[in-house]
This record gives sequence, C-alpha cells and structure tokens, in this order.
Amino acid sequence: MFIGHLGVGLALKKAEPRLSLGWLFLAVMLPDVVLWLFVLAGVESVRIPADYATRHYLAFVFPYSHGLVAVIGWSVLAYLAGKMTHGVHAGGVLALGVFSHFVLDWLVHPPELPLAGEHTLMVGLGLWDRLPLALLLEAGLLAGGAWLYYRSTRGEGFGARYGLGIFLGLLAAFVIGGQLFAPPPPSVAQLAGSSLGFLALTFALAAWLDCRRRTPGV
Ligand SMILES: [Zn+2]
Repeated sequence: MFIGHLGVGLALKKAEPRLSLGWLFLAVMLPDVVLWLFVLAGVESVRIPADYATRHYLAFVFPYSHGLVAVIGWSVLAYLAGKMTHGVHAGGVLALGVFSHFVLDWLVHPPELPLAGEHTLMVGLGLWDRLPLALLLEAGLLAGGAWLYYRSTRGEGFGARYGLGIFLGLLAAFVIGGQLFAPPPPSVAQLAGSSLGFLALTFALAAWLDCRRRTPGV
C-alpha cells in the first residue's frame, strides 16, 4: 500500500497542525523506508514472483520493518522524536501514524506480516487478491485524508490552493496505473533504490507544498 498510507498522514495534519506534512508522510511510510534500506543492506528481502504479471504484487520477508513487534518499536522511536521536537501530543500523533502502517498493510498483504520474528505467526487479509477493491480502498483513504487536510488548512494563490491537490492526483494516477499495468521490476536492488528516491521526493514535495498553506489559529 502507498497512497492509502498518505491519506492517514493527511488526516493527521488536523490532529497536529504544527507538524509538517513532510514529517507526517515520513511517519506513515517509515516501515517502507526501513524495508528498502534493509533490502539494500541484505537484512530483509523482496521476491518478484514468476506470476507477477497476473498478481501485480511482490512477496516480502520483512520481520524487522513490518513485523508487529518491530512496528511498535518504530512507533516508540517516532514518539520520542516527536516529543523531543514538538511535545508529547506531536509524539503521540507521529507514533499513531507509524502504527497505522501495520494496520493498513495487514488489510492488503497476504499472510506475510509476522507478529514478531521471521518464524512467528504471519498475518494479512490479502485484499491484494481483489486488486480493484484494494486500490479503491487506497484511493478512498487518500481522498478522505485530503478532504480533512483541506478543511483544516488555508492557502491563498493558485499554488497554495491547488498545488498539493494536483500533486496527490498525479501521484494516485501514477501509483494505481503502476500497480495495474507496470511490467515486473528489473531487479530488487533497482526497485529498492528507485522506491527510496520516490519516497524522498514525495516527502520533500509534500513538505514544500504544505508550508504554503497555514492552519487558522496556529
Ligand atoms: Zn509497508
């Protein structure tokens, strides 16, 4: 899942307007950032299944980035980072953002999310097997989050008013189109590198577009 997580990040802006959308997006995507770094380091692995062209999703071994216990650990780290920089409430919001990643991934992944280590119980509802439904859920989460974000912030001028909406629309089209029609990635290392670059660009653009809007009373 990708844009669905961003929907949660957008919604959390309403809960903690002092946090930049760039940080909120980093929080909700943190397990994926850790995953791709761990894949490059050889600690976790991703497999491109032979039937990728029909299944449209990858297979993961990712206990340290996506296991339940690990995600709780990453949430605690996010809490501490938020608390140190913006106080207890912001810490709680960032932790909630990180933990939401596990819940949403649990909905879409097949049973490959471990509760603790690599050889513990694997969970996942497998909504990706009904891909149109999974993508509809993602798009709905993004739209709902964007609606909450736009309701709680204000911006004047074309860029501030529509910049983020245009960016999110393009991102949704790219991600949904990519999952439905893209050919299998050439290699796992290339996939990890390009995913990290894409995520960094998303965080930076979100932070930049977000600072053009303001929250009344903050
Ligand atoms: Zn994930």
